[in-house]
Amino acid sequence: MRTQIGIVGAGPAGLVLSHLLHLQKIESVVLEVRSRKYIEERIRAGVLEQGTVDLLVETGVGARLKREGLVHHGIELRFNRRGHRIDLHELSGGKAITVYAQQEVIKDLVAARLDAGGQIIFEANDVTVHGFDGPKPSIRFRRNGQAEELHCDFIAGCDGFHGVCRTSIPANVITDYDHVYPFGWLGILAQAPPSSNELIYCQHERGFALFSMRTPEVSRLYIQVPNDEDIKSWPDDRIWSELQLRSALDGNWKLAIGPVLQKNIAGLRSYVAEPMQYGKLFLAGDAAHIVPATGAKGLNLAVADVRILAQALVEFYKSGKTRLLERYSETCLRRVWKAQRFSWWMTTMLHKFDTDSAFDQHRRIAELDYLTGSRAAMTSLAENYVGLPWD
Ligand SMILES: Cc1cc2nc3c(=O)[nH]c(=O)nc-3n(C[C@H](O)[C@H](O)[C@H](O)COP(=O)(O)OP(=O)(O)OC[C@H]3O[C@@H](n4cnc5c(N)ncnc54)[C@H](O)[C@@H]3O)c2cc1C
Repeated sequence: MRTQIGIVGAGPAGLVLSHLLHLQKIESVVLEVRSRKYIEERIRAGVLEQGTVDLLVETGVGARLKREGLVHHGIELRFNRRGHRIDLHELSGGKAITVYAQQEVIKDLVAARLDAGGQIIFEANDVTVHGFDGPKPSIRFRRNGQAEELHCDFIAGCDGFHGVCRTSIPANVITDYDHVYPFGWLGILAQAPPSSNELIYCQHERGFALFSMRTPEVSRLYIQVPNDEDIKSWPDDRIWSELQLRSALDGNWKLAIGPVLQKNIAGLRSYVAEPMQYGKLFLAGDAAHIVPATGAKGLNLAVADVRILAQALVEFYKSGKTRLLERYSETCLRRVWKAQRFSWWMTTMLHKFDTDSAFDQHRRIAELDYLTGSRAAMTSLAENYVGLPWD
């Protein structure tokens, strides 16, 4: 088999890249280890930045997103039993976020690629990448037990944090910047209407909580738990009562409760691999970096990376120039590190640390108090939350 761009992974990064390349008449083949059903049902992120929404809409894969996505103009920060609304729309000059589940983005992209005759090979096993340090890159894999090889001009490693692409680059080329937080998020998906029209971030002495949603009927709720927590020690009743305690408010507030559809614990991590390219292999999205979910940046960063990669590949195929390809990593990393900073800041401001002294607790409340009372500070939060400009 031969194509121009061999893409490993059909997450947001791989599928958006394949879609953008197709619009510029550049061929690609996407190799995905999981089944179509699996990736279309995998529950992950749900907050799309303004730029991500605009890109999906402008490139023709945003019709359902426009119809079904929930546009939010603000978020609430809640601490000391009081809620403070951050008006994202007004503070960012008219931008917003859209709540639309990642698996819905995936469904739209898979459908668009297949309708356009694009190739996504699902359940591609034992994927390995070769020859990217020379002129003839290729990807070997097994389909239905048969060994196959895909020859290509470039390889895009869009295979997430646990994929094979990043670890195929010689170890002495990559510098890892890694920070693991001493807590994780216990997340539930509940058949209950959202308790608020906007996301609520709660800072509480018992730990962080986030009240989010996926649809007008389904809530997505999280509580901070220790890293090594056993999910079995969290029956549904205990989760609901902890959510009640951490969201307590002097004023009107009623937590909508319903059957728990799904429950999991995920660790929080900040990670960057530098550089994001080696020879003809380019890493994008979670394959190159991880952010703690507090800033809602993971999916959006994946889209931002492949937007840059698509532009660089278009320049190469149209003019033979490699200028943008050579600068791919450097260009992406500027945005990546700003998203890292913002996600780390939100995480450390809103979570409880076991090592906190009384001083740390007072400083954290003072920071939130300052933030919610200063237009300048709220503007900074708003412009990061809705997404920094592309360039
Ligand atoms: C469990 C989990 C929960 C998350 N929850 C949130 C959240 O609540 N909010 C938020 O903002 N962000 C969240 N994120 C982050 C966000 O979902 C990711 O940043 C986003 O999915 C990144 O997209 P990606 O395309 O780079 O990687 P991925 O979505 O991980 O896609 C990579 C793809 O590559 C495939 N793959 C992996 N290895 C191979 C291989 N060897 N061969 C072929 N294919 C392979 C995978 O099956 C996958 O389909 C979560 C991430 C995870 C892992």
